[in-house]
Amino acid sequence: MQFSTFQKNLDNWQGSSLIFGILEEEIASQLENIKFVVDPKLLLKKVTQKKFKGEKGKTLSFEFLDQKLETLIIVGLGKSKDLKKSDMENSIGNLIRKTVDKSEKISILLPWESIISKLEINQLAESARLSAYKDNRFNKNKDEEKVLKEIEFLNLKKFENISFDDTEKICEGVELARRLVAAPPNSLTPQEMSMQATKIAKDNGLEVKILEAKECEDLGMGAYLAVAKGSDLDPKFIHLTLKSEGPIKEKIALVGKGLTFDSGGYNLKVGASQIEMMKYDMGGSAAVLGAAKALGAIKPKGLEIHFIVAACENMINGSAVHPGDVVKASNGKTIEINNTDAEGRLTLADALTYASNLKPDSIIDLATLTGAIVVALGNDVAGFWSNNDDLANDLKAASAQAGEDLWQMPLQKSYKEGLKSHIADMKNTGPRAGGSITAALFLEEFFDKKIKWAHIDIAGTCWTDKNKGINPSGATGFGVKTLVQWIKNKSI
Ligand SMILES: [Zn+2]
Repeated sequence: MQFSTFQKNLDNWQGSSLIFGILEEEIASQLENIKFVVDPKLLLKKVTQKKFKGEKGKTLSFEFLDQKLETLIIVGLGKSKDLKKSDMENSIGNLIRKTVDKSEKISILLPWESIISKLEINQLAESARLSAYKDNRFNKNKDEEKVLKEIEFLNLKKFENISFDDTEKICEGVELARRLVAAPPNSLTPQEMSMQATKIAKDNGLEVKILEAKECEDLGMGAYLAVAKGSDLDPKFIHLTLKSEGPIKEKIALVGKGLTFDSGGYNLKVGASQIEMMKYDMGGSAAVLGAAKALGAIKPKGLEIHFIVAACENMINGSAVHPGDVVKASNGKTIEINNTDAEGRLTLADALTYASNLKPDSIIDLATLTGAIVVALGNDVAGFWSNNDDLANDLKAASAQAGEDLWQMPLQKSYKEGLKSHIADMKNTGPRAGGSITAALFLEEFFDKKIKWAHIDIAGTCWTDKNKGINPSGATGFGVKTLVQWIKNKSI
């Protein structure tokens, strides 16, 4: 999908579908702004008849048979003093979602004077496109192309030469992450994920390395391989590298949990544990690969960025890990696996060690790691932990700019007690209480302490059952926008 602007005199405008935002005040004078397509007096009569006053979220649709303009949707934005950009984004997003199958091009005219920057226009464009996302890959509409191809902004005089380039690339990254997460586990296998990663690398000039099980064994990745061995499918350890041209100022590693399916292992997911949804247990790796696609296209300056995923399945067979097994991770630490369903942190243990050995300045890992974070923060907010205040603050700022909600959680050292094992250096799970915190404390054992690190638990945010804001029901692609924004802020 493309974004465009129409900067000429509106009398020359030729479109057929228009979304027109209206504030809850002086309706008549606002309707004058679309006199280039309809008679404002006639329209005022209709609007008054329908008792429409521009209240937030209310819409009025008009179909015209005999005019160039076929559809006009008027959307109420509420009172100008209460107007928030997020309200505009939500209103436009909901409308676009409803019209995505109807017209090839939708034009938008809003009270732009309420929007102050090019960045905000870009954010609006981004939410319009992400709201319009549709996934027909696995149903009978498979070959149907989405009809909507272009979103046009009218009368953006204030913002001449506005560019939507980065926004388009970020959207492509989020959409890729959504496709990866939503793909069923018999489609998105570790092998398929490695192929998708290779394609991202080839398309955008990244280096790619896929380590097979034997190479991981040679590196001593006993924790990751313990998880993988219960599956008939081979694990694939994915490592992409994006290097800016010219001098490198900073080295970054992004690590994503990549369980293409998580049965729980012998601690099988039963009852209300949603085993049928466990295709989304690779949401962290989807965010990392989505960011790789976006950043590969944006090409930030002065950075070397590593994208790392230890992809595998957590299944059950005769050689699957037993609850109680002790394994050794690639940094030499031993782990008593007291719960086979806490497998994500085992794969991350080796992925973080691998990242740490690359000697980056900072590591961020993303994972659908714990049910505990869903209990703590629900489905709208992801929890994050960091060992460094600067990184934490930068991440908070980036997530606010990106419109993804993060909440910092404590690395409560006293909870480490809960990971003590009688037989090994640590257990992989602590007590039920504070479960997302002990998970973060576990991860902290697997990289050089001098490296700035943040861990984001996206178990609650990577999927939505209902349409919500810019997210159509299904995979949200959560994390891509924050990662890209955080890196863009560095390369300014
Ligand atoms: Zn699990």
